[in-house]
Amino acid sequence: MAGHAIPRPHSDWALDLEAEPLSAIALDDDEHELPGPASFEGVARLSVWSAIRGGERDANALTNLAYGTLLPMRFGDHFCSRAEVGAREWLEVRDAIVVPALRLEAGDDPGPYLRARTRWRRVGKTDYLGVSACAVGKVSSASCWDEETCTTPQTCGPIPDLLCVRAIDGVPFEYVHDFGRAGGLHTVRCAERFRQQKFDRAVHGALRSFVAGMAGVGLPLAAILTAGSFCCRCMAKRDGKGAVIKSPSKSNHMFGDAIDVTGVRLRQPAAGLPAVLVSNHDHGPTRAVLLRVEAVLRMAFPVVLDFMWDPVHHDDHFHCDFDKQHGGRGVTVLGRANARFIRAAVATVTGQPWPKFERALDDEIPLARAALARAAGRAPGDLDATAVRFTYQRLLEVIARGRS
Ligand SMILES: [Zn+2]
Repeated sequence: MAGHAIPRPHSDWALDLEAEPLSAIALDDDEHELPGPASFEGVARLSVWSAIRGGERDANALTNLAYGTLLPMRFGDHFCSRAEVGAREWLEVRDAIVVPALRLEAGDDPGPYLRARTRWRRVGKTDYLGVSACAVGKVSSASCWDEETCTTPQTCGPIPDLLCVRAIDGVPFEYVHDFGRAGGLHTVRCAERFRQQKFDRAVHGALRSFVAGMAGVGLPLAAILTAGSFCCRCMAKRDGKGAVIKSPSKSNHMFGDAIDVTGVRLRQPAAGLPAVLVSNHDHGPTRAVLLRVEAVLRMAFPVVLDFMWDPVHHDDHFHCDFDKQHGGRGVTVLGRANARFIRAAVATVTGQPWPKFERALDDEIPLARAALARAAGRAPGDLDATAVRFTYQRLLEVIARGRS
């Protein structure tokens, strides 16, 4: 794969401030439940029986066929090892569906086999839809980091409206266990699909907007890669050796108000790129698509912290929240968290090279204001708060849509 250190200029990306805004993202309230194994069992039995009649006698191949029919979202998942998840389910499918079919004799009536239904003990126990209130007591004081992260001890929760969620409108979470490298790029070496995430209703709504928004700009998702959500901890960072540096500040993860998005798995890979997109900020084509992903995240979440804001601790994920613990007071368009993104986004739509960032975030803010003003065709002093918000929203929409 050819490397592009510098993204190509996008001078044909007109930031048309007069254009009609994208229509509001429509969300219907009925959840999109994925069908469970019970509804597929008849199909699985029929396909196994047909395959045997066609000459297939290999129990492994037949079990793969049945397993993939019963659990279409699970088959082919990339786990670190087969034994980790799914092996017991796979054996249960083999014993319930494949073994009896292989025992059928040539002249037997297949009716009883085809009509039989299994009382599954393991298969499909995962709550695929996964939008449910968490058991409050179970998470109220749970610690997700072994280390103590707070300079003074804190208690967490209970959070009454915390949700336990495995997928967003049919798009599963993939919890990244380990990164690897492939084709010169960072990639996910192993991940756990449908890993339960915990957050409140606002975060859930924003993630639904994100999923709908990604489809709306032509980047429909197969999975949301995540590094986690609810976590009873302070805003601790790690030093160069991986040791935790304690902090007095509570993390928004402590309130069920945050999720870390590591990347995305696209249903259709972008041209020349892998389907799994994670931080490869020195690879121009990946960075260009991730800028679109980030723009859609920013349309859904008031706070998105990225690799530009913090190249050390946020290099590999987008942290998204509503800043509820401060009542959203810290959320401003021309703030420290947005300034570098704004500069990069304006450079992208105006065909300028990727910006060279200042050392201090505070020094970025006037540059971001100047960039927004340039995008709006105004003088920096001529951009009041309303114009700043409007131009920022249009910038997000244009970036999200990409070159058309
Ligand atoms: Zn985070």
